[in-house]
Amino acid sequence: MADGADRGPAAGAADGRAPAQAPERAMWCDERFDFQSTFLQWLAKHVPNIYSAEMDPLVEEQEEMVQAGILYPLECYLFGEDPDIFLEKLQQSGTSQLCGKVFKGGETTYSCRDCAVDPTCVLCIDCFQNSIHKNHRYKMHNSTGGGFCDCGDTEAWKAGPLCTKHEPGASSSPKENSECQLNEEIMEHSRRVFPSVIKYMVDMLIWEEEKELPVELTIREKADSYYCVLFNDEHHSYDHVIYSLQRALGCELGEAQLHTTAIDKEGRRAVKAGHYASCQEAKEEIKRHSENVSQRPLHVEVLHADVMAHQKFALRLGSWLNKLMSYSSDFRQIFCQICLKEEAGSENPCFISKLMLWDARLHKGARKVLHELIFSSFFMEMEYKKLFAVEFVKYYKALQKEYISDDHDRVLSVTALSVQMFTVPTLARHLIEEQNVITTITETLLEVLPEYLDKNDKFNFQGYSQDKLKRVYAVIYDLRYVLVSKPTVWTDGLRERFLEGFVSFLRILTCMQGMEEIKRQIGQHIEVDPDWEAAIAIQMQLKNILLMFQEWCACDEELLLRSYRECHKAVMRCSTNGRSREKTVFHLCGHTLESRPYRVSADPVSIHLPLSRTLAGLHVRLSKTGAISRLHEFVSPEEFQVELLVEYPLRCLVLVAQVAAEMWRRNGLSLISQVFYYQDVKCREEMYDKDIIMLQIGASLMDPNQFLLLILQRYELVDAFKKIKPTKDQDLIKQYNVLIEEMLQILIYVVGERYVPGISNVTKEDVIMREIIHLLCIEPMAHSAITKSLPENENNETGLENVIDKVATFKKPGVSGHGVYELKDECLKEFNMFFYHYTKTQHSKAEHTQKKRRKQENRDEALPPPPPPDFSPAFSNVVRLLTCDVMMHILRTLLQRAVELETHLWTEAMIQMVLHLLSLGLLEEKQQLQKSPEEEVTFDFYHKATRMGSSAMNAVNVLMLLEKLKRVPQLEAQKDTVNWILQMFDMVKRLREKSSLATVGATSGSEATKADESTQDKEKAERKRKAEAARLHRQKIMAQMSALQRNFIETHKLLYENTLETQGKDDAIMEEESITSAIDYSRIALGPKRGPSVSEKEILTCILCQEEQEVKLESAAMVLSACVQKSTALTQNRSRILELSGDTLDPLFMHPDLPCGTHTGSCGHVMHAACWQKYFEAIQLNFRQRLHVEQIFDLENGEYLCPLCKSLCNTVIPIVPLQAQKINSEDAEAVAQILSLARWLEIVTGRISGYSMKNAKGEKQNLPPFTSKGSGNSALEFHSILSFGVQSSAKYSSSIKEMLVLFATTIYRVGLKVAPNEADSRIPMMTWSTCAFTIQCIENLLETEGKPLFGSLQNRQHSGLKALVQFAAAQRTTSPQVLIQKHLIRLLGVLLPNFKGEDTPSLLEVDMFHVLVGAVLSFPSLYWEDAVDLQPSSVSSAYNHLYLFHLTTLAHIMQIVISSATESPSAHSSDNSEEAQSAQSFCREVCQYTSGCFSQDIPGWLVWDCVKKGIMPYLRCAALFFHYLLGVSPPEELLQVSEEGQFKALCSYLSLPTNLFLLFREYWDTVNPLLQRWCADPVVLTCLKWKSIAIRYPRKRNHLIELPEDYSCLLNQASQFRCPRSSDDEQKHPVLCLFCGAMLCSQNTCCQELVNGEELGACTSHALQCGAGVCMFLKIRECKVVLIEGKTRGCLYPAPYLDEYGETDPGLKRGNPLHLCQERYRKLHLLWQQHCIIEEIARSQETNQVFFGFNWQLL
Ligand SMILES: [Zn+2]
Ligand SMILES: [Zn+2]
Ligand SMILES: [Zn+2]
Ligand SMILES: [Zn+2]
Ligand SMILES: [Zn+2]
Ligand SMILES: [Zn+2]
Ligand SMILES: [Zn+2]
Repeated sequence: MADGADRGPAAGAADGRAPAQAPERAMWCDERFDFQSTFLQWLAKHVPNIYSAEMDPLVEEQEEMVQAGILYPLECYLFGEDPDIFLEKLQQSGTSQLCGKVFKGGETTYSCRDCAVDPTCVLCIDCFQNSIHKNHRYKMHNSTGGGFCDCGDTEAWKAGPLCTKHEPGASSSPKENSECQLNEEIMEHSRRVFPSVIKYMVDMLIWEEEKELPVELTIREKADSYYCVLFNDEHHSYDHVIYSLQRALGCELGEAQLHTTAIDKEGRRAVKAGHYASCQEAKEEIKRHSENVSQRPLHVEVLHADVMAHQKFALRLGSWLNKLMSYSSDFRQIFCQICLKEEAGSENPCFISKLMLWDARLHKGARKVLHELIFSSFFMEMEYKKLFAVEFVKYYKALQKEYISDDHDRVLSVTALSVQMFTVPTLARHLIEEQNVITTITETLLEVLPEYLDKNDKFNFQGYSQDKLKRVYAVIYDLRYVLVSKPTVWTDGLRERFLEGFVSFLRILTCMQGMEEIKRQIGQHIEVDPDWEAAIAIQMQLKNILLMFQEWCACDEELLLRSYRECHKAVMRCSTNGRSREKTVFHLCGHTLESRPYRVSADPVSIHLPLSRTLAGLHVRLSKTGAISRLHEFVSPEEFQVELLVEYPLRCLVLVAQVAAEMWRRNGLSLISQVFYYQDVKCREEMYDKDIIMLQIGASLMDPNQFLLLILQRYELVDAFKKIKPTKDQDLIKQYNVLIEEMLQILIYVVGERYVPGISNVTKEDVIMREIIHLLCIEPMAHSAITKSLPENENNETGLENVIDKVATFKKPGVSGHGVYELKDECLKEFNMFFYHYTKTQHSKAEHTQKKRRKQENRDEALPPPPPPDFSPAFSNVVRLLTCDVMMHILRTLLQRAVELETHLWTEAMIQMVLHLLSLGLLEEKQQLQKSPEEEVTFDFYHKATRMGSSAMNAVNVLMLLEKLKRVPQLEAQKDTVNWILQMFDMVKRLREKSSLATVGATSGSEATKADESTQDKEKAERKRKAEAARLHRQKIMAQMSALQRNFIETHKLLYENTLETQGKDDAIMEEESITSAIDYSRIALGPKRGPSVSEKEILTCILCQEEQEVKLESAAMVLSACVQKSTALTQNRSRILELSGDTLDPLFMHPDLPCGTHTGSCGHVMHAACWQKYFEAIQLNFRQRLHVEQIFDLENGEYLCPLCKSLCNTVIPIVPLQAQKINSEDAEAVAQILSLARWLEIVTGRISGYSMKNAKGEKQNLPPFTSKGSGNSALEFHSILSFGVQSSAKYSSSIKEMLVLFATTIYRVGLKVAPNEADSRIPMMTWSTCAFTIQCIENLLETEGKPLFGSLQNRQHSGLKALVQFAAAQRTTSPQVLIQKHLIRLLGVLLPNFKGEDTPSLLEVDMFHVLVGAVLSFPSLYWEDAVDLQPSSVSSAYNHLYLFHLTTLAHIMQIVISSATESPSAHSSDNSEEAQSAQSFCREVCQYTSGCFSQDIPGWLVWDCVKKGIMPYLRCAALFFHYLLGVSPPEELLQVSEEGQFKALCSYLSLPTNLFLLFREYWDTVNPLLQRWCADPVVLTCLKWKSIAIRYPRKRNHLIELPEDYSCLLNQASQFRCPRSSDDEQKHPVLCLFCGAMLCSQNTCCQELVNGEELGACTSHALQCGAGVCMFLKIRECKVVLIEGKTRGCLYPAPYLDEYGETDPGLKRGNPLHLCQERYRKLHLLWQQHCIIEEIARSQETNQVFFGFNWQLL
């Protein structure tokens, strides 16, 4: 808005008025005048006049007046010279090093994962493209608006803070100082001007009086002129506002819409002008109509016209300042100084604070101006940014409260600027240290959250408003921003302030500790599921903040210990619950536990324990830093009370166990969800993980037996481990079993999970590596799937990339799917079946995968735990749990139960866990023994496990139990594990026995196992034998398989090689002919040497009734499912406007541009016609019964899904058998003697004129006049055509005839977009046209795919084409022959001189292949006689085809020669071949007839070259056509790809001389007049003369547009995209047409188009022209491909862009760099060229019903 571009005309206007203004300008300059009052007087005089017509403003005129009347003089005064010149100079003198571009919603922003300090540091597209980060691991995202480019901010980037554009010295300016210093005079003026301007602006923006203006501005009599102004809000819907306006003002819909759009965009608008009373009335009316039960009325004000005008101008001044700011740092500094200046002795805030505080009350448009101004001034000057931040923090509380009660989006609030300040590390540190910002933010939270507090001062979010809570999140974000970068240097002040903030934060956590308690529901199910989302959502928001606080605390030992003390105090204060109860005592195994009774299953419990968890986090950091040794100085052991610390996390884990045991099922889904998130990756770090750590803290500090007794008691399992059989109740036993499993699992975790820095000596990398290993042990995974399963840190990083290559190998994706990572083999040994982050399903999947793998490798199935890392000293006591009495008791009891086969009291899972615990104990002892001398190792697991139990019941030891366990049949699967444990026992025993230190170590390990070798060997041998057997079995199966495969090939050889096979057959039939000659001519399709048709009995199976039937003329019809569609796939000219309706179209001739054809495709599935009809009626019935169900396909238009493959079809092709024809070569030779081309022409002419004479007697025929000279005797030869051989026409069964009509009508209906009409004369034309066009499409496809012409078609293409050509030949019989003749005569008009009619198009305006197909298919109609149905005999056809083909070929060569006349030789060639010579002489002829227009200088070789290349597609199409029409086998060469061989083979197959110009010589007499006619054609002459654009041959093959390799190039293009219809800068959805490359403005009302009375979106209306309704687009901002068809259908398709992990990124959610995948783009190309887009849409809609709601019409 404020860039230099719009200055031109305004400045010009100013010049025009200059004389009038000169004195006044002078007045301003006069030092004696007080600038302020003069300025205000000036404004008071002009502003109301300029903005007088608010209802219907002439925006451009207003702007002109503002420029000329106010801004221009102001600038003149300010700069002291012509503003344009001055600003130009200033611009030249260099730009700021900061980019500061403010993002609009939807703009793409870039961040660098390698260099950005945090993810909020972003670059605009220009800076990014010019920065070093382009080659780093960048991320792209769509901005929500409101941010700005951080280019140039050295604190935002670890490297490369400047792009080349903003680099100092990058500008061409010769000045050393990149920033031009303003001279003192201008500075002085600025200091005079800015205060007045700013004061006026601020005063007007916060002006509250409706009727009055400030006195300084009131200079004239106040007119009674008011506006009723409506404000925007986010509560009322668009439609509701429109409705209210229509009702209240009685205005038209259009006007109401106009108002509403403007209000939505600007934030307010005058909707009525008039006297005060009438405006007041309108205001009340609008309020009344907009109010209802659930909604407040709209915000309406009545404003005096002058107030409105001044407010408007105040905003204009704002954007003027904004522009000025970009020119000079001095301006910015002066501006900032004035904005920050506080009135001396006044309590009033400074200007900028006033505006900030008023922000929530400003309307949208005003806020935008204000925020932009802040960006362009304060944020561009680091020093002032800091001062601004200080002001911001000063009013932080007030601002946030205003925002929370406001209803506008966050991007429109001044509070959204916080991210720009808080994330700057130095600024954040300053704000913490000087402004105590952490405390300010947490106190703000504490002030806005109390409405959610319950009577215990805990949060309770029942019935909260989601919208409101989301606004509170904004404050939480701010806390995160402040903490995002950890300080490296700590001052005392910083430490104190941080600690103060931390304590304040603990107060929030105190409100969360134990919030939303739940109680188990017994008996009845709860009535309403309580709200749980809010609490969990806050937990998610806090997760990283909690982690960051812990990290900050750990920066410094003193700080850590002090914060630990504070946190510990807070936890203790919250742990009062249950203290009133008396302690009880219970005993087990001679140990006693005294505790206060509490039962999770009966008492209230909460999963929210952030205080306990923070303490656990600080505890591991104490352990990691070693500060733990000083803990007693800060928290005395008496105060510590570890039992109390453990209590709450333990309850939470028990709750999870009880939920798993289904004890809480009456508490509904809410609890299930909470438990899910408790363990989910989004929350677990600060929930579940920390609870496990707290148990580990407990285990390390408590007596192990006491600890286990506490666990047993909280799990309510004390009874389950007593001798007495607990109960007979099956449900209860099941419950117990689940609880025992859950408890054992927790014990495994407490002892075994050590991958936390501080618990053991591992690094963060080790932890991530372990997570990834365990994920990949389940299955190979995509990069994004792994990322999703890993916790993210505050910078949204998981650390995945740093370690992934160490543990996994990447496997690239194919054409679909995505790339995956596979675990490296050497990492498999790290697999721990009981990994604590596995869900139950993941656990069993991983176990299954790993066992299967071991089996395949012929190894045992034992999956023992990997040796865990050693505990760090603070936690080393945890392992004592394993050897304590209670643990032994638990293990023994469970093993005993298994051995005694008390089946209901144990489960296999339970035993697995017992075995796992045993393994952990043995591993621990082994590791300790290997490290230290035997006598120093006090860990005596072996000893404890082999000791007898204390009581009689347990009078066996664990070792003995294990031996017995091997014989338990239910535990067969665990046998390998048991064996492994037994070996370990043995090994540890040996290690213990070796008292000498020397032998302890690795060697002893191997020795220890030696004794076992004999038994092991036996097992090994057995295993080997089994493996061998399995291998043999596999081999056998493989052998069978390959035999089957061979059979398959054998059986189907016929399919592939039937040409060869039948070749032999035919040879056998034609015994009388010599074999050699048979081979010679059998591969010629035309003329007397025509080869025999290869047709064999065709027996097909109906896919519906599964019955077989032979295809015969007289049988009931069989049909092929098919889809007819319009297509522009071959068009040579996309700018051509297509007719949308074919009512008046004449489709007989196809333009050589092939703008739009009718394509017929088939999926190749065969049905009986009757079966198909029944099927179709059934779906129709089905749909009529369920009317409201939305249909995927349009039954009205005959659409259905193929019953077998579900392809979309809209008709069927009848299968007509090929009529085998064979020529008697002697006859043919004889005929050849007489039937020359000239003679043939004569006969044909005679026949036709005979007809016309005959017909002329009856009705008047519209036949072209005959100009033939030889027509005198033509009447005599009327019948002579018949003398060259006739035969009776084929007789089709009525069912075939019916299908012929049906299919032909569909082609006509779809191809022309008209209502079906079986009698329309254009039906045969459309039949020929689709036949020709489909062949051209297939030829095109084969060429682009580089496949041979014959033998490489897909099965469906082959059978579809075969059926289509045979149908097209047969269709003639269902139309009146007179009609066919009429069409034929028109077609011949192009080829023959004596048939030229008035409507015969010029040679350059027809596609010759279409003419050929039409003429060949309609020609037999000449044989029709009134009485009998006749058709040409084989010999006649052979000649007819030959001559028709030769004639069209001649015409086509002529087309090529003419169009190549404009070619200029690019290289010189001395080719003087025979062909070149012929070409040369031919050109001379042409030159004669064109009176020199055709230059004969064109070298012959060039012409020949053009012809040879240009004619190829035509020849290839003709070969396909005649092959499918006649069934004559093509030459071998056409089954391969070879350029030279192909041309010769085509010529031979089509009876052409390879020197094509010989054709002209051969037929010279006939051709001569033709040539003359063609050349005399005015179109041809213009073309030659003016070199106007004639279509070139070969035609260009269409491809999807070329896409850039790097996706950000496309985004770049999109960012420069401007909607062609509207000038505003609001967000657009640029969409790229992949057919033509047009960029469209999608999903926006501005670009909707009215087509046939319907509003269509830009894409839909473009598709009608570009793709005849079917089109393919790329939504650039979303990186998705859209396929659409017509107005109602479409689907999304993955874009062909992949990130380096082989994954697509719809919606740019992940934002990784994307690169074009050629294979996938090719696939899209084929989808188009194979005409499968419609099919793809139908398939996607069937599987993915989501898009039914989408209005494709408006895309
Ligand atoms: Zn930038
Ligand atoms: Zn830059
Ligand atoms: Zn970088
Ligand atoms: Zn059937
Ligand atoms: Zn099918
Ligand atoms: Zn297009
Ligand atoms: Zn638009």
